[in-house]
Amino acid sequence: MGLPYVTLNRGMNTLSGGEIQRVYLSRALGSTMTDTLYVLDEPTVGLHPRDTHKLIEILKKLRDEGNTIIVVEHDGDIIRACDWIVDLGPKAGSEGGEIVFSGTLEQLYNNSNSFTAKYLNNPLQEIIPKNKFSFLGPNNRFIEFIGANKNNLKDISIKIPINEITAVVGVSGSGKSTLIVDELYEEFNNFLKHPDKETTKLSGEFRSIKNVVLIDQSPISRSTRSNPITYLKIFDYIRELYSLMPLAIQRGYKPSTFSFNTEGGRCETCKGDGYIIIEMQFMADVKIPCEDCHGKRFKDDVLEVTFGQKNIYDILDMTIDDAYNFFKNQYSFAKNKKIESLINQTMNGLELLRKVGLGYLKMGQSTDTLSGGEAQRLKLASYIGAGNKMDKTLFIFDEPTTGLHYYDVDMLFNSLKELILKGHTICYIEHNIELIKRADWIIELGPEGGDQGGYLIFQGNIENFLKSDTITTKYLNKAN
Ligand SMILES: [Zn+2]
Repeated sequence: MGLPYVTLNRGMNTLSGGEIQRVYLSRALGSTMTDTLYVLDEPTVGLHPRDTHKLIEILKKLRDEGNTIIVVEHDGDIIRACDWIVDLGPKAGSEGGEIVFSGTLEQLYNNSNSFTAKYLNNPLQEIIPKNKFSFLGPNNRFIEFIGANKNNLKDISIKIPINEITAVVGVSGSGKSTLIVDELYEEFNNFLKHPDKETTKLSGEFRSIKNVVLIDQSPISRSTRSNPITYLKIFDYIRELYSLMPLAIQRGYKPSTFSFNTEGGRCETCKGDGYIIIEMQFMADVKIPCEDCHGKRFKDDVLEVTFGQKNIYDILDMTIDDAYNFFKNQYSFAKNKKIESLINQTMNGLELLRKVGLGYLKMGQSTDTLSGGEAQRLKLASYIGAGNKMDKTLFIFDEPTTGLHYYDVDMLFNSLKELILKGHTICYIEHNIELIKRADWIIELGPEGGDQGGYLIFQGNIENFLKSDTITTKYLNKAN
């Protein structure tokens, strides 16, 4: 199950989502249940490609024992191992939700409408892609970390090139997160907080980095009042835009009238939530639509104010992609420079969300409903937006491709490149070969997980990495 490195006293709450699913699967294997329907959501998250075939064998064993298995997956090897494939799309959000294909793998290969089929037919044209980011060339300036020895790490020292992209790879449990998050990130953070204190672990040109940011999959906010466009402050422009509409001016509405967070324009029955929560004893709380506003979050008078025939609720109910096109279409009708500029700022913000593959989210979707991967990409979008104003920063990511379809990986990589162009440094922990082969510099830990891991197996540029013989290059070269 790819979990030999997990110590027996690890709490279930310390395992990643992929690891938990694989523990549950182990338990299912031990039971004699048949006629059971198993539903798995991305069980390969955090699994090194080397171990994917083990997972496939187990799924097949469960099937052969008389069970039925449904897997939601982006991993090509898993898709190829399935008896039946249902492909949803064609794209995401309002452009998705249709069954593009349903049938066997053989039939899928011949389906020209499916993005998944396109990828499976043509996984990797070349090991180093044409758009490989290398025009700056190696600059030979490094952040060095000396003597990493937490958990299973074997007193190793690493180098991370400044203003380039580093991928940290290795089998599950080899110590990647310990090295990058528990050692490097923590030490750097402590140093930045107390620059007068001595650091024995950081060396090289680390002082040229003024900021370190960990962009992980932790939730953005437990508040239901935050959504993608409030998080990126795009809603401020939209609210100001609505306050400039003739009816709003006539009635003396302010930008704050169009906020669901403050009193004024919002529905006071539900305080702008659009729904009421009923607490149930012994059961999960129940959400019911607000009786006064019928889920529209604002007072009727406020909803009478429209821009391009849409009121503020209509905007919140659009997907980010649809809203982008809506504002684009409205641009030519803008009555003055102020409105033109507000539309521009709105579109720039929405473009950031599209770049990180979140165009399918609804504008008003509460951030507490986002998956870990979505939350991570929303944080990334906010940093790309702020990238110009930020001091030289080291960005650390933990599996940024989680939950991302193949055709979105390119888009994600291009937004990472923007951070590089702005002078920042990137380091990501990744199993996705598409993202590994696009990095400038590779650090591989291993050879195995747990006690048999924690050694530095390889460190160097991508060209030398592909010539070396490691567990990960075996997989990269085989996939090619
Ligand atoms: Zn209401």
